[in-house]
Amino acid sequence: MAAQSTYVPLSGSCACKAITYSLLASPLITHCCHCTNCQRETGSAFAINTVVETSNFKAHQSTPLTEIDTPSASGKGQAIVRCPSCLVALYSHYGGAGKLLTFVRAGTLDDTSRNRVRPDVHIYTKTKVDWVDLTGEEAQGAKIFEEFYDAQTVWSEASLKRRNEAMADAHPKDEEKSGE
Ligand SMILES: [Zn+2]
Ligand SMILES: [Zn+2]
Repeated sequence: MAAQSTYVPLSGSCACKAITYSLLASPLITHCCHCTNCQRETGSAFAINTVVETSNFKAHQSTPLTEIDTPSASGKGQAIVRCPSCLVALYSHYGGAGKLLTFVRAGTLDDTSRNRVRPDVHIYTKTKVDWVDLTGEEAQGAKIFEEFYDAQTVWSEASLKRRNEAMADAHPKDEEKSGE
């Protein structure tokens, strides 16, 4: 794919810089999540998660990262992965998608990368704080949902294709049989 070969990886790090990471392909989608779990975990009004196949996420580290299971608004749970030294949360895996997709906390991106990522979709806006006004976001084409959404109606065709390929790689042959 031509687009992939010219893609400049997004990069980021934790606060102490013990862990740096790269996204080797463009994000599949970027969520801005206004759920109360994200508010509590970030100490802020929302979290920005940019999603990529785990195979396209590379953490550069010398020690294992710290993984902590926490609740999620969907009820399926979330494993938050943190730097073992400064404990900044770098990314998550959600129960629904398992480990196939990595939800990178976009606030941990480097300065040059951060502005290349913006929300495609705002989710769990039923618990959004009042002073966050999304009218400008809607005008820019971002989608707004009170809770979660159906990927088939929101993700780009290219992203859906990449996600299906990631799933197929993880569930070889026998899964295909039962699918037909
Ligand atoms: Zn750190
Ligand atoms: Zn959330």
